[in-house]
Amino acid sequence: MIQLVKGTKDIMGAEVKLWQDIEKRMRTICETFGIGEIRTPAFEFTELFVRGVGETTDIVQKEMYTFTDDGNRSLTLRPEGTAGVARAYIEHGMHNQAQPTKLYYISPTFRCENTQAGRQRQFHQFGVEILGSYSAAQDAESISVATALLDEMGIEGVELRINSLGCPDCRAEYNRTLKEFIGANLDKLCPTCKERFEKNPLRVLDCKETGCQAIIANAPSVLDCLDEECTAHFQKVQDILTEMEIPFTVDPKIVRGLDYYTRTVFEFVANGLTVCGGGRYDKLIEECGGKPTGAVGFGLGIERLVMILERQNGAIVNEPKRDIYIGSMGQAGHIKAQGMTLALRKQGILADCDTVERGVKAQMKYANKIGARYSAIIGDGELESGIISLKEMESGEKEDVSLTDFVAIVAEKCK
Ligand code: ATP
Ligand code: MG
Repeated sequence: MIQLVKGTKDIMGAEVKLWQDIEKRMRTICETFGIGEIRTPAFEFTELFVRGVGETTDIVQKEMYTFTDDGNRSLTLRPEGTAGVARAYIEHGMHNQAQPTKLYYISPTFRCENTQAGRQRQFHQFGVEILGSYSAAQDAESISVATALLDEMGIEGVELRINSLGCPDCRAEYNRTLKEFIGANLDKLCPTCKERFEKNPLRVLDCKETGCQAIIANAPSVLDCLDEECTAHFQKVQDILTEMEIPFTVDPKIVRGLDYYTRTVFEFVANGLTVCGGGRYDKLIEECGGKPTGAVGFGLGIERLVMILERQNGAIVNEPKRDIYIGSMGQAGHIKAQGMTLALRKQGILADCDTVERGVKAQMKYANKIGARYSAIIGDGELESGIISLKEMESGEKEDVSLTDFVAIVAEKCK
């Protein structure tokens, strides 16, 4: 038997209902915030992610699913959503529309990572990208979308942590300071961090090794390296969040996993799991070949959201509910039942009938199993008399209904 690939999952049964509910809320919230949907392809030219995510990131260095197509071009399955949206923004000249451009997506995302709790190789991200504004107001608005969703889902104990990495000048200044500090402790760092130290010292702050964590704890704060403008920008983000009554803590250790972030970065942590991460990326559009464009966004992991909800609310149970089951006996009855079932379905009634040729007793057992509110059985007798008995399953009460009015009467009762 061929099994599913490690790090992937079938989403089904009761869980899929929860997914549908989550997705519906995401779409409703985006509509409220004036954010339109975008569906970009699942794969792009590898170069887009190398440039857009950053050569020194874990994603590009070891987590991408990359393959060569028949034209010998290197393609990569989307490891995150922002680069594809940035490409589409440029490609379709969206900067010509009234700004900002506000987009969201709900898409499968692929990373070749070691699988563990909360870490899959195919997972799903709800992402929001707002392009065409440098203002702190846009950072706060973007954060408020994620907050609205987590609030509405009733996630308890979520913590919002924010930081600013400053503009490229501040970042360069901080990189120098950090390099000095790390250089003095280099022998105590893990092998990966020794490499990171050369190419991108900021990444060391993101290391999950306990040894590195201990060193990083005393590292200088990026906030001390911010210039006046970047400090004011970060302060404004905080002022708006406070006005919006969105609680947060400033954590100067947050750098996030992607290279393109400038100024504000943030994450939402619940139950020790990072459920959402995002930030401002003012250089990305230029990096991908567009005009300089301020932008901010986030990615929220749906599997992690589901995990937190299950931990919080227990396993999901799904009680089936159908309006009516139309049982049947004999060839003519079968045919009539299926016709009436479709007539009801066209009116939005959750109707079912026999399609596996069960006996009548087994059909009624099945009607119970699917949680049908009403049932009826149609056979030669009913066809002849033109009268059919409609039964309310819970009370057992029966009512004679004319066959010609059956669909209209059932539709009326079930609406
Ligand atoms: P982490 O530090 O946990 O590896 P990250 O920095 O790689 O996270 P992002 O690239 O910011 O995460 O992705 C945004 C969100 O997507 C994460 O907060 C998380 O909820 C989710 N996510 C990321 N990688 C995975 C994965 N392998 N499996 C499931 N969800 C994931
Ligand atoms: Mg990661």
